Amino acid sequence: MATPRTKRDYCWTCGGDQQHRRLNKKEEDWLKERLGRSGVGEFWLCVNVLDPDTGKQCRNLRTGFNKKPFAEPIKAPVIE
Ligand SMILES: [Zn+2]
Repeated sequence: MATPRTKRDYCWTCGGDQQHRRLNKKEEDWLKERLGRSGVGEFWLCVNVLDPDTGKQCRNLRTGFNKKPFAEPIKAPVIE
């Protein structure tokens, strides 16, 4: 069975269940650098749209088990 790429789960910065997706390669590389870790496979990114005009997404990070893995929220930047 393939690992799902999206799931609904709680986002503590949005409040409530929101759609999340897996990180892409560039985001994983950024997060590895950010956290100084070699593996970040457990993280999910909130894709809730905060601003319908610009399409800006929340992008807050959580893990599958922990809705608040960091003391302060870490939001992935949009990487071109
Ligand atoms: Zn969110």
